[in-house]
Amino acid sequence: MESRVPAILFRNLKLLDPRWTAARGGYEVLVEGATIKEVSDKPIKASGARVVDCGGRTLMPGLIDCHVHVFLSEVNIRNLEAVPLTLLTARAADLMKAMIDRGFTTVRDTGGADWGIKTAVETGLIPGPRLFISGRAIGPTGGHSDSRRRTDTGPNCGCCNAMVYAMAIADGADEVRKTVREQMRQGADQIKIMCSGGVASPYDPLDSLQFSPAEIAAATDEAKNFGRYVLAHAYTPEAITRAVSNGVRTIEHGNLIDAKSAKLLASKGGFMIANLVTYFVMKERAAQFGMTRDMLDKNDLVMDGALRSLEICKRAGVEVGYGSDLLGQLQVEQSCEFIYRAEVLKPLEIIRQATLVGAKILRQEGKLGVVAPGAFADLILVDGDPLKKLELFLDQGAHLPVIMKAGQFHKNTLR
Ligand code: ZN
Ligand code: ZN
Repeated sequence: MESRVPAILFRNLKLLDPRWTAARGGYEVLVEGATIKEVSDKPIKASGARVVDCGGRTLMPGLIDCHVHVFLSEVNIRNLEAVPLTLLTARAADLMKAMIDRGFTTVRDTGGADWGIKTAVETGLIPGPRLFISGRAIGPTGGHSDSRRRTDTGPNCGCCNAMVYAMAIADGADEVRKTVREQMRQGADQIKIMCSGGVASPYDPLDSLQFSPAEIAAATDEAKNFGRYVLAHAYTPEAITRAVSNGVRTIEHGNLIDAKSAKLLASKGGFMIANLVTYFVMKERAAQFGMTRDMLDKNDLVMDGALRSLEICKRAGVEVGYGSDLLGQLQVEQSCEFIYRAEVLKPLEIIRQATLVGAKILRQEGKLGVVAPGAFADLILVDGDPLKKLELFLDQGAHLPVIMKAGQFHKNTLR
């Protein structure tokens, strides 16, 4: 059944298309259905359109966070072993609503989110951002995605253990190939693999090299065959080099990247998704939510590299996407990534990372991250100019009176 929704005309605004270097006055934007129909610096004629007077505020594309986990709803993720999938889903609904409330109209889930939760958002059952899902994050036995305790021997059942549901174990190229195919069969938009140790897993050293070159190559080959790509969790230059040399397209975290591995990543047209906020916030607040000493020690190892990694990538010409990677109760700090990055980058660079670069990473150039005809009508209205004040993105969306996704108002306090 088709119902005709009237067009929506935004006027009296400053337009911030991140391809520009500043917001421009005198523009109007017409939305029809799920997409932007017209953008003009002259008044747009649209009889019958519902007019939104923006009161001189700044209209810009919705934000894109390329590294979230909507299902990892505990700071100490080991607590998830006793969280059933029903409760996990209910919590994810809460976390996703908070994300779109903060102006993130698109997120890339890097392990956990499945086609079920994606469908729930797409069909309007749950308010939330557009989801690009990875299904289960795949790693080797004993690696970052092996959630078993040392006393567990066989595989754990995933039906009442959220950690098993979010992560998969595969060993050897053939098993990796099969597991990658399985994620894609279940609707994964991209494939997540583990190439180095991690902070939130207690038993694998941070500098351990996880999947072998042959295993990584099997994953990237399969993903490519299916029209997908592979993202890799990797901290060290060795892990980054191994991943990128074997076809990985995006490096997650990358805190300890050096000039040489950054140059390699740039030469392949790859991306890095940094997430400074999680290290700083974990240091301050994770212990109160039960994160253990051995995890926090690993956090210290990578924290120092975080700001430096942005400068190294900039010098090497690696494009960096916006990421947060916050777990559970700490996800409220998602927008603070803007502020941490501002220590070494200009506001325009960071806003581009959270829009244009995000769209490239998601292979949605021209559809997301811009305000242009034919793009999805994913828009936010800001109480001021974020190029002058990134803090406007803070406070859980308090400075965003309008949030629209696919032409539908998630929020509109201007009426
Ligand atoms: Zn990771
Ligand atoms: Zn992550």
